[in-house]
Amino acid sequence: MTRRFQGDRLLVATHNNGKLEEISALLEPFGVSVAGAADMDLPEPVEDGTTFVENARIKAHAAAQATGLPALSDDSGIEIDALDGAPGVYTADWAETETGRDFVMAMIRAHDALQASGAPEPWTARFCCTLVLAWPDGHDEVFPGVMAGRVVWPMRGDQGHGYDPIFVPDGYDVTFGEMDRWEKNRISHRADAFAKLVAGCFD
Ligand code: IMP
Repeated sequence: MTRRFQGDRLLVATHNNGKLEEISALLEPFGVSVAGAADMDLPEPVEDGTTFVENARIKAHAAAQATGLPALSDDSGIEIDALDGAPGVYTADWAETETGRDFVMAMIRAHDALQASGAPEPWTARFCCTLVLAWPDGHDEVFPGVMAGRVVWPMRGDQGHGYDPIFVPDGYDVTFGEMDRWEKNRISHRADAFAKLVAGCFD
């Protein structure tokens, strides 16, 4: 039995405005107003977990403890089978440069590693998203979401973000980078996790 969310105010443990807007829109029908970590001046905790669940827990509990409000976090990334699941929890790190994140560089790194591995196509992969809702008393609920597909080369499409241009979801011929936003948001790993969160804690 999952714990229901009963307040009217939720902290979203992210400094990413895109994530904040997406979560706000999703929870609006339930009369929940959301605040972001930057609005509350919260520091970004060190994400030193080795799984999406661990990192999402670190972020949600740090925010709930610091504010006394229930807090929701999201940790996501892409796992490529021929690379033993890499970049996985290091998906964002692969894009890190001294001047910010460079996802073209990260996608080239993934492709170079696939070529070096000698693995034949299809290069099966999945996007994962874990949502954690944590309460100030230390309780939490965890909701994993997945979208399976394959990595393709070259990059295709200019919609979306991150690794979208090299990921073709199962059942489609287009990459996430070529796909209509509405369609991606309907089928994505994040949509999968959100549907479970809403059913578990809000509906
Ligand atoms: P996080 O913000 O620490 O969870 O990092 C997630 C990483 O995974 C970021 O680098 C994102 O670009 C990447 N990522 C997560 N979801 C998607 C997606 O839907 N498309 C493309 N990249 C994604």
